[in-house]
Amino acid sequence: MKLLMAANWKMFKKLDEAALYAKELAKLAQNLPPDREVALFAPFTALRVCADNLGASVALGGQNCYPAAQGAFTGEISPDMLLDCGCSHVLAGHSERRSIFGEDDAFIGKKCAFALSSGLKVLLCIGERLEERDKGLLKTVLERQLSGDLSAVPDTVSDGDLAIAYEPVWAIGTGRVAKAADILEAHAVIRAFLERRFPALGKKMRILYGGSVKPENAAEIIALDNVNGVLVGGASLQIDGFSRIVLAGNA
Ligand code: PEP
Repeated sequence: MKLLMAANWKMFKKLDEAALYAKELAKLAQNLPPDREVALFAPFTALRVCADNLGASVALGGQNCYPAAQGAFTGEISPDMLLDCGCSHVLAGHSERRSIFGEDDAFIGKKCAFALSSGLKVLLCIGERLEERDKGLLKTVLERQLSGDLSAVPDTVSDGDLAIAYEPVWAIGTGRVAKAADILEAHAVIRAFLERRFPALGKKMRILYGGSVKPENAAEIIALDNVNGVLVGGASLQIDGFSRIVLAGNA
């Protein structure tokens, strides 16, 4: 299984910055180590310009979508619109969507199933808040999120179409990285869940880590068991830093 090295720009970058970055990323992707792939999750407004400049070697994704084909949903974007802009991927369940926009597991579950049935690959983000971790609820929270968010996903989903990003909320944008033991524990919980939920495919689904990944810590993180890539927010905003992450640990 190849590592997936993914950038999440969040609500950053206007068209000119996006185009320049995408050109540089496309160059990097020409000479990727054979064990890895790259994806870029850009704001809606930058998707088309990214698609035009990325070339085929970088997967492009939306940061969100609404679970309907079209309709009276002012301000929303459908999976089909993302596909039309050149996307192959979409994020679901990012902690900022959960905490700022009140998305719950029932809604995220609809989004995952609808996006997959529309032909997008889904990177589902899950993770516990600090108070939940402190109460010893890591496994409970991760399993609750996985079971709600994946409830309507067919058992036969292709292993390449669904990946999970473990993103402890207390590590996102805080500079505080989970320790190796924390990442190993959480990823083992997620792997066990996936193997139960998707008996034929769960062992082959990618589990990414996200939360203050930087060029300095990426190599150590991707070397851990059950870590199949990283999802990078802040440190993906500069192409130099993200390039170092993409190539991390490559001898
Ligand atoms: C993210 O937004 O998914 C993320 C992990 O952010 P950061 O790398 O800034 O912690």
